[in-house]
Amino acid sequence: MKDARGIGMTSQRARDRLVAQLRDMGIRSTRVLDIIRTTPRHLFIDEALASRAYENIPLPIGHGQTISQPYIVARMTEALLEGGPLRKVLEIGAGCGYQTAVLAQVAEQVYAIERIGDLTDKLRERLLRLGYRNVRLRRGDGAAGWPLHAPYDAILVAAAPLGVPPALKEQLAPGGRLIIPVGASGSQQLMLITKTPQGFGETLLDWVSFVPMLEGVG
Ligand code: SAH
Repeated sequence: MKDARGIGMTSQRARDRLVAQLRDMGIRSTRVLDIIRTTPRHLFIDEALASRAYENIPLPIGHGQTISQPYIVARMTEALLEGGPLRKVLEIGAGCGYQTAVLAQVAEQVYAIERIGDLTDKLRERLLRLGYRNVRLRRGDGAAGWPLHAPYDAILVAAAPLGVPPALKEQLAPGGRLIIPVGASGSQQLMLITKTPQGFGETLLDWVSFVPMLEGVG
């Protein structure tokens, strides 16, 4: 088994540098920063890229997909936590599972969906090996959500549709939060949608660049 502590550029110093950078960029939650510091991002990517694991950049994970930039993972997690304790969280577009692992440390139970079979298989094995036991993973089209376990305190989407899939809003618990990039490549808005007794509230968090949300399974 590979070393979760890491050596060289996967070392604690590289992680501390990343955390300092995220703090400078406006991430305030010490809980989130601590999780970024201790989660072994180098074990979620190809070994050939491990030396770049603690740079604040997306990296390829195969099948034309990328592991999300640490700043974005931190920003989205922080925004979800601002809504209070998280019991059930749904993640769409789990990819290599780095964001999944971060969510598993702030929520009681994580439900994750990924459409590409090969990524799903690798992720399942990786989560087991790294000891994340509170994650249920499924291959499928996340646009439909996962009605069986709804409602969710939070839903996090890591691929951008052109519009918010209605099923995801429907599967939010009262007071629940949906964080989702929306729009065509080049001009996506990261939206925070909250379910209130008066209806849905929407806040623009950032301009972002995610891979597109695709239909069906790959
Ligand atoms: N947070 C992930 C991001 C991976 S990129 C990580 O850090 O690794 C986005 C992922 O969304 C890709 O793996 C892609 O296959 C997946 N995806 C795209 N459309 C999807 C859909 N409709 N349902 C589920 N997953 C989808």
